[in-house]
Amino acid sequence: MSVRTKLARVLDGLGVVDAMLRLRNVVGFPWLTSLCYHRTAEPGSDLGLDGALADATPAQFDQQLAFLSRYFNFVGVDDLVGFTKRGKKLPPNPVFLSFDDGYRECLTVTLPLLSRHGARATFFIPTDHVTHRKLFWWDRIALAVHESKRERAEITYPVRLTLDLAAAPEAAKAELIRLVKKTKRLDVERFLTELDAACEVQLPREREERLVDDSLMTWEEVKKLADAGMDIGSHTRSHRVLQTLDPSEHAQELRGSREDLEERLGRPVGSIAYPVGYALGADDVLRGAVSSAGYDLGFTCRAAVMPTFAHPDPLDVPRFLMDVSYDAQRFSAFTSVPGLAPRTTIDLG
Ligand SMILES: [Zn+2]
Repeated sequence: MSVRTKLARVLDGLGVVDAMLRLRNVVGFPWLTSLCYHRTAEPGSDLGLDGALADATPAQFDQQLAFLSRYFNFVGVDDLVGFTKRGKKLPPNPVFLSFDDGYRECLTVTLPLLSRHGARATFFIPTDHVTHRKLFWWDRIALAVHESKRERAEITYPVRLTLDLAAAPEAAKAELIRLVKKTKRLDVERFLTELDAACEVQLPREREERLVDDSLMTWEEVKKLADAGMDIGSHTRSHRVLQTLDPSEHAQELRGSREDLEERLGRPVGSIAYPVGYALGADDVLRGAVSSAGYDLGFTCRAAVMPTFAHPDPLDVPRFLMDVSYDAQRFSAFTSVPGLAPRTTIDLG
């Protein structure tokens, strides 16, 4: 158990969390809490893909919504744009819910639960994956590692690496994912094709399409979310880590995905969640590219709240990455006392 988890339990036991909750209902705390989810699903229902992305069970999400609707006010993209661009006040104790990647459960599980609690959320969609029914790079990596019959495999691009597939598949997967997240100007298609060859795994196109159809929404389904009053934002076109791209690729990922969404949904789109969630920070080239692509709001996965008393940075809005291991006590503790929030790999660099 981490120090923060232990501290959350102790403070909860002492009644501190409860006192904070009552206090915030009276005075309203000057910050925005944003949460980032991917799938609301039962553990193990991962379709052979990377199951780590189920970050709340439906029952857990239901409980979390009940808690949030008692102590928070749900806000959407329009509220945050009004606040950051025009200085319009947010309601007290605002909370922003978001779902990245466009998994099917967003429509089948998440939306009915949101509706039941009168809540709203924003769904960030990687447009090429929905249009072309392509698996995400981390799901391709998971498939190659898990389905390989080889004990070891060696890749040579972008670096020479021996993968211990039989003895340490999780470590192999983590190392491959790290390569995609960190390698500048990586040719991802080449990397995945060579990985499949090294692992002696084949992914026929029909199977890929079937897996995508089972796991990701179609455009008709994304539109149903929008028609139900939910916000839709961009998650780029191909879910590449923006910081690894050549600047010449920024426009097609940023502006291109916004135009895809606007064309498909027939409504303006002004928000984006950066794939993997690294903050823009002082990267002025990327910051300029995000702005000139037409975005007013950009979301990261930096574990923090956004102060609402100063001038917050609308292109680096922090979000807490959710995890299925957060029980009700942990959830109420860190949404009430942000310092108790778990650090993520983004924060740790
Ligand atoms: Zn994502």
